[in-house]
Amino acid sequence: MCAEAEAAGAAPGYLFDPTVKCCSYVPALPNFLVGRILSDADPAAAAGRASVEARIGAGVGVTPIGLLPSAIFSRLYEGSAPEAFGRNRAFRCPHYLQESGTCGIWRNRNSLCTTWFCKHVRGQLGQAFWRMLLELLGRAEHELRQWCVLELQPGDEALKSLREWMLAKDELTAAALEERVERKVYQRIWGSWLGCEHEFYVRCAELVEGLTWAEVSAICGPELRLQARLTQSAYARLLSDEIPPVLEPGSIQVSRAAKGTLRVTTYSTHDPLDAPDVVLDLLGEFDGRPTGEVMDAIEAEYGAKPELELIRKLVDFRLLVEPDEPR
Ligand code: SF4
Repeated sequence: MCAEAEAAGAAPGYLFDPTVKCCSYVPALPNFLVGRILSDADPAAAAGRASVEARIGAGVGVTPIGLLPSAIFSRLYEGSAPEAFGRNRAFRCPHYLQESGTCGIWRNRNSLCTTWFCKHVRGQLGQAFWRMLLELLGRAEHELRQWCVLELQPGDEALKSLREWMLAKDELTAAALEERVERKVYQRIWGSWLGCEHEFYVRCAELVEGLTWAEVSAICGPELRLQARLTQSAYARLLSDEIPPVLEPGSIQVSRAAKGTLRVTTYSTHDPLDAPDVVLDLLGEFDGRPTGEVMDAIEAEYGAKPELELIRKLVDFRLLVEPDEPR
């Protein structure tokens, strides 16, 4: 995905800045992950731990539910052009280690960082699975971080202030514009844990550490269980090699033409395919007739049937789609 990859002969498409890669993003870290990072005594994790301590020391977005990006970052990130992703050094993650080009908090990165990939072995099918898993893990993070706060009881006034702060957290107040901490608000939301933020986060990690998945499910409620079911279905689809009974050509964008090959983009600008002309010619054969009938027609015309693996790849990357699928 980086400029060097193209120089080395890889098929790139959309390229990232090698000094940022896909880490042009400030992650929200739920309280229990912050605690895990702070208690990780491995010397190899020291730089990541220091980056989290620096965020806590700065105070902006430091709350009992975890570390949140500043209001300015959230606004700019939401408003930024899609092409800025992976190329914008101003948004480089505070946990990205520039010397090594790696993540300083890899073992405890959040659900979004855990499930995001620029390319997928099985194209859109892989992306659909990881997105579903993101919903599941994101829901668990959301519920568990609140459960930790309730367990550790900063006091009712603090809970009320925290709730109000969450509702208004992206407002561009004078303090937010200057990335300054409003001390009174900070004191209110931390309640009885004020001054013991490190200890609070470590306690959150200890609370979550011993939970079984059944206990997580019970804490997080039916929405999590629903999400778990959908994730299992997405995983079963990911493992299946079944060819749909009826297919037709999907929508493609051509980004580059070379002799005998077109570079096409389908489900993601990050994951283009170099498709030979002969393969693209086959797409038109899939005109809504049953797939077996189309395969026979191709054999009659070309003298051989395409391998099922090829058809599966065309389906995975949405060069072929089922007729009733949304485009
Ligand atoms: S937490 Fe790690 S993986 Fe996530 S954006 Fe930062 S450096 Fe990248």
